[in-house]
Amino acid sequence: MTVSISKAKATPAAPSAGRLRPLGLREITLKPGFWQQRQDTNSTATLAHIEHWLERTGWLGNFDAAAEGRLPGARTGREFSDTEIYKLLEAMAWEVGRTGDSVLEERYRAIVRRVAAAQEPDGYLNTNFGRPGQAPRYSDLEWGHEIYSYGHLIQAGVARARATGPDELFQVAVRAADHVCEVFGPDGIASVCGHAEIEPALVELYRVTGEPRYLEQARLFVERRGNQVLADIEFGRSYFQDDVPVRQAEVLRGHAVRATYLAAGAVDVAVETGDAELLDALTRQWHTTVARRTYLTGGMGSRHQDEAFGEDFMLPPDRAYSETCASIGSVMFSWRLLLAHGDAVYADLIERTLFNVIATSPADDGRGFFYTNTLHQRVPGTEPAPDVLVPRAASSLRAPWFAVSCCPTNLARTYASLAAYLATVDDDGLQIHQYAAATIRTGRFGCEIDTSYPHEGRITVRITESPDTPWTLSLRVPHWATGATLDGRPVEPGWAHLNRRFSPGDIVVLELPMQPRITAPDPRIDAIRGCVAVERGPVVLCAESVDLPPGVDLNALRVLPHAEERDGAVVVTGRTVQPPVHGWPYGIAIEPSTTGTVDVPLRPYHRWARRGPSTMRVWLPLADGRTDQ
Ligand SMILES: [Zn+2]
Repeated sequence: MTVSISKAKATPAAPSAGRLRPLGLREITLKPGFWQQRQDTNSTATLAHIEHWLERTGWLGNFDAAAEGRLPGARTGREFSDTEIYKLLEAMAWEVGRTGDSVLEERYRAIVRRVAAAQEPDGYLNTNFGRPGQAPRYSDLEWGHEIYSYGHLIQAGVARARATGPDELFQVAVRAADHVCEVFGPDGIASVCGHAEIEPALVELYRVTGEPRYLEQARLFVERRGNQVLADIEFGRSYFQDDVPVRQAEVLRGHAVRATYLAAGAVDVAVETGDAELLDALTRQWHTTVARRTYLTGGMGSRHQDEAFGEDFMLPPDRAYSETCASIGSVMFSWRLLLAHGDAVYADLIERTLFNVIATSPADDGRGFFYTNTLHQRVPGTEPAPDVLVPRAASSLRAPWFAVSCCPTNLARTYASLAAYLATVDDDGLQIHQYAAATIRTGRFGCEIDTSYPHEGRITVRITESPDTPWTLSLRVPHWATGATLDGRPVEPGWAHLNRRFSPGDIVVLELPMQPRITAPDPRIDAIRGCVAVERGPVVLCAESVDLPPGVDLNALRVLPHAEERDGAVVVTGRTVQPPVHGWPYGIAIEPSTTGTVDVPLRPYHRWARRGPSTMRVWLPLADGRTDQ
């Protein structure tokens, strides 16, 4: 297998066709600011924290037990626990490629050796199936997660090949992919995995190796799903998107992580095979899902029972599941559509999701995480002990580790590769999608981006390298940024294009309006009718009980539809109300009486629950009960 590393971009998704081309981690780097601080925490604290928990829980030790013939007796963890090791390896691969950290490189290699030792001669690799005393291989495609696990293994191998070069892990991934193609190919088992994930991974392996067999296998998996190839289950086949073929579906449904991963992989297949019909179907599904099934934070999934999308407009804030992994899947899906179409709306949703879910989940020290991301916490939470594994996904405060711990490792790989989502190029020039202090050097275009966004709305782009001929610098103007200016001239939301001859030293200034905005919901979202939220720039704000005067209950607060900045904080005026007290919470025209007025400082939602247990809400009932739509 020959892999052309000189041409390989260190980037998570590298389509061979489409409107825009991604940059690699050697072309774009973060500078001190909002995102670099979080990337540093990921690098210096989270990776070691994850490694510690993978050893402590025995999930990494499962590979040693496999190699030493101690399975199934010695196995710990759920059926998909192998993937947490693969996602950690992917994160380490991006991180080593980005920083050249030799200590991390040694840690990475040590884990790779343990993984590689567990691979069977035919390429099979899973610690939960296939040995005497374990269920046979591929005997439980609905719940076994075997093919899903290969997906994460392959993504890790691809990350390493792109970030540093093909190595032992990459070879393990290729052997696993070949095995999948043999077992599930055109003449093999005509089914799919209950959890999509192999699809984007196989396409990426095709993009790295040029081997068409991997693309064909991904295409087969995408086409098979939706034809009831899996058994019916308690949650229905929509849970794993096996109810309707991908190209016929109208909206994302079922388990939100499965749905977004599948959609991302299906876009990859559509782009690489030139399947316009499939790409159109996925584009429509994205728009419908955003219009009807997405939280203000960008979070997806409102059903706890099956971690799934609800019906249209079923978006209760206090039952928001909004799994961190689903937001990462959403970014993967949006990013691929952005590369395919170049439309700024996809970058808008990525921004919303980054600032309001992906920045919300990790603790400041990088050693605790939200798995679910509620928009309304009714009772103060309980502080989990730093050394306790939390059995449930829903935790009221960030927890160190979960019995199902998919989110921490997913965050780790995302933060390690985050810079790749900031900008792209095409034949005409450079497009900047996400605003962060960063350095871009593509060899053709170069610039320094300086900003304290999202704290302030000024973004300064200083050109450092430029061809002698005119080219186009394109800056995304977010959909909320009415009144934005570029070099002092008004620009509309969407794309602001500057086409001219640039010289090193030229400076372009984008000013985005950062006044707080009152946001009203579509009235069909019954659960928040009569409420408003407040946003500032890309950041959703929330009210938290720790900011209220003693005795004021967040649940007995109504606000006026006006917000202003005062002393560096966004403040709304609230009226406290005295709810009726009787034994039956219904009656004719219950009108609580107003008992006082209070200023309520609002904080970024991503900062909530960082000052101890609290109650919190994003959607605030209006004092006069009016909806603004
Ligand atoms: Zn997760």
